[in-house]
Amino acid sequence: MSAEANVGVVGLAAMGGSLARNLAHHGNKVAVFNRTYARTEKLMNEHGTEGEFYPAKTLEEFVDSLVKPRTAIIMVKAGEPTDAMINALADLMEPGDIIVDAGNAYFPDTIRREKEISARGLHFVGCGVSGGEEGALLGPSMMPGGSEESWKTLKPIFESIAAKAEGEPCVAHIGLNGAGHFVKMVHNGIEYSDMQLIAESYDLMRRGLGMTPAEIGDVFEEWNKTELDSYLIEITAEVLHQVDKKTGKPLVDLIVDHAGMKGTGTWTVQTALSLAVPVTGIAEAVFARGLSSEADLREEAAKQGFAGPNGELNLNSEEKKAFIEDIRQALYASKIVAYAQGFNEITTAAKEYGWDIDLAAVARIWRGGCIIRAKFLNRISEAFESGEANVSLLFAPYFKNAIETAEKSWRNVVAQAALNGLPTPAFASSLSYFDGLRSKRLPAALIQGQRDYFGAHTYQRVDQPGAFHTLWAEPGREEIEA
Ligand code: NDP
Repeated sequence: MSAEANVGVVGLAAMGGSLARNLAHHGNKVAVFNRTYARTEKLMNEHGTEGEFYPAKTLEEFVDSLVKPRTAIIMVKAGEPTDAMINALADLMEPGDIIVDAGNAYFPDTIRREKEISARGLHFVGCGVSGGEEGALLGPSMMPGGSEESWKTLKPIFESIAAKAEGEPCVAHIGLNGAGHFVKMVHNGIEYSDMQLIAESYDLMRRGLGMTPAEIGDVFEEWNKTELDSYLIEITAEVLHQVDKKTGKPLVDLIVDHAGMKGTGTWTVQTALSLAVPVTGIAEAVFARGLSSEADLREEAAKQGFAGPNGELNLNSEEKKAFIEDIRQALYASKIVAYAQGFNEITTAAKEYGWDIDLAAVARIWRGGCIIRAKFLNRISEAFESGEANVSLLFAPYFKNAIETAEKSWRNVVAQAALNGLPTPAFASSLSYFDGLRSKRLPAALIQGQRDYFGAHTYQRVDQPGAFHTLWAEPGREEIEA
């Protein structure tokens, strides 16, 4: 086979097949390979006329059909299969060629793979791709890592297929080795938090205010015309308006309330724990999914028949209207906290791993194609661009003002939820984070005292330099300089 394709896709299931078609739709000459040839044939039979494809029966044929430097995008099952495919390709490719892993890899794996593959003279690029199957076909948000040199080749290809937001392609070179997959992971963490906050808002209206799913759907539709304008709010309205064809009931009432997860939220929290960055909103969202899926435990708890409020707020229509606006404000403020925490995690990891990440660019490429696409990402990118958000997004004047405007409502929502027995882990933890952040003094002083008491861990004083230890066991409990 003569080399004609400028890019290739390995793995033609839902994601890879869609990505290959997207590439072809935008004038790329696309080599395609799948372990089981029947899948390649199916893609060619159904979509082969949509562009220029070079279907290969063997990996050797696939590699031979690519022009140099060869660019192969892997979209196979994450984990072992990805490693196997990377190695098989690397064995057939030559120095200067580029292997892209566009699956959902855990960033330490990407760092490891990049090290191994670059030692062989090839480029390895871990690329976060968001937007699911539809995004892969119509334009995803793309977060490539890897070397600057590989980006020169990949830029025009990726820009041709990425989603466009206000005319700009939603793709940017994030940083070296695992930076792209890291940022994609945090994107997913923020997505968890965003979804949990929306779910808590729904619950407050459903159980707290006794509204129907359709009425709540209408509220979300209205909210989508405000600062909350986003893909997740838009689809929430649609889900809530969906009526089950068989029973005529709201579909949401027929869906089992155990939230699934595939692991990227957990990775975001695990990584944040090891970096000691508080991402409380994301963590609570992951734990809330965990609790929802503890079916036996929840059933047993229900049987216990704990006394306590039943969640109803018993408000009149005026109060109800005002409370809905409070929820909207609380949602907005908590969402800002989730983003601030996510960006803090990126900043801390960038220092730890030596990545030079342009946070404004990250916010810009999340404006289209991905699940957390939202209007207010324009404001976030402006805040990073101007340097106003360098320390925290919460300190940029636009967001400081938004938080201050929302604050009273936010407190009211968390307080009412607690008083009436409605769980709002993400709202409450975001508010606590904010209050912790703005507290001049925290009870951590007491914790330091405790630590020194049982473990002689020492403490610092506010009025003089040095480390101190109190001789707690001795009469008089003298303090000594440690
Ligand atoms: P799957 O994760 O279901 O994987 C199926 C593909 O992997 C098939 O092409 C299959 O080939 C191939 N495969 C499996 N095992 C091997 C192996 N040992 N050697 C070679 N090929 C193998 O496909 P998806 O399209 O759903 O996802 C692809 C990647 O994209 C995954 O990493 C996934 O995590 C990620 N993803 C990303 C999403 C996003 O929004 N970014 C959404 C969904 C997935 P065969 O046909 O021969 O079985």
